[in-house]
Amino acid sequence: MENIAFIGLGNMGGPMAVNLLNKGFKVSAFDLSADALAKVAAAGGRAASSAADAAKDAHVVISMLPAGKHVAGLYLGDYGLFARLPKGTLVIDCSTIDAGTARKVAEGAQEKGLSMLDAPVSGGTAGATAGTLTFIVGGAAEDLARARPALEAMGKNIFHAGGAGAGQTAKICNNMLLGILMAGTAEALALGVKNGLDPKVLSEIISKSSGRNWATELYNPWPGVMDNTPASRGYAGGFMSELMLKDLGLAEETALQSHAANPLGALARNLYEEHVHQGNGKLDFSSIVKHFHSVD
Ligand code: NAD
Repeated sequence: MENIAFIGLGNMGGPMAVNLLNKGFKVSAFDLSADALAKVAAAGGRAASSAADAAKDAHVVISMLPAGKHVAGLYLGDYGLFARLPKGTLVIDCSTIDAGTARKVAEGAQEKGLSMLDAPVSGGTAGATAGTLTFIVGGAAEDLARARPALEAMGKNIFHAGGAGAGQTAKICNNMLLGILMAGTAEALALGVKNGLDPKVLSEIISKSSGRNWATELYNPWPGVMDNTPASRGYAGGFMSELMLKDLGLAEETALQSHAANPLGALARNLYEEHVHQGNGKLDFSSIVKHFHSVD
């Protein structure tokens, strides 16, 4: 079994690293946050003192970082990991970042004789914890074949979207739709509540009618409607609104570059911009319901 270095142990990376440990992989982990590192160490991972220390003796490096600048900073440049990884190391970036940066990092890997996949995920923190994530992969088929055992330890569905960067493009299309449907679901529930409906009853009706979607089935934005959702624990954990705003921005940039129309994505980005600006950036993205109705 290959030794794995795991960099970035936040809401997603932490449980993903724990699943690798549970499936018998040796994991050396690093995060700037001591708390995040301690959780993975408690599950049996080696707590490394830096990313370079984590990558020592690793055959595979996995990263799960907030945005493109963190990924480029980790791998590229004189002090980046690519300058010190042995040839043949497989690098898998699971962060959601812009396809341009993903391609630039993949080129940097190729120059050093390394293999690189962009492998952003879908499924949220619940999927990360349960090991049921969907991986949306860009890169060479033979590198994906090599990555499969590790990806299967953390996820259930693995899609090969195309060459370098294609995983990120597909992920951004998905997340633009997710931002739109979450804002739309919040708006519909708020309309019902303002007109005297019980949010739980309305959610049950929608989830068995033509308006049903991922939010009404699994991730209801209204507090108390569903157990175990961020909405029912003060919007803590989950997928932060500031990360959704980042993804909607990536979708908008992609639309501009490719001359695609994205009026609904742009509207959702504006809603999240205001929401984050009002101090909700660290709350789960389903908290967009606060934009339509008071839920405190
Ligand atoms: P997070 O902020 O909880 O975790 C990011 C972690 O990276 C933090 O613990 C931070 O300390 C660490 N970090 C930042 N820079 C670092 C560096 N240079 N070296 C080491 N550690 C560093 O974010 P998250 O929710 O885990 O999301 C991570 C990525 O996954 C993002 O790109 C996000 O868009 C994507 N994503 C998140 C979800 C979700 O539901 N949370 C779902 C799918 C995809």
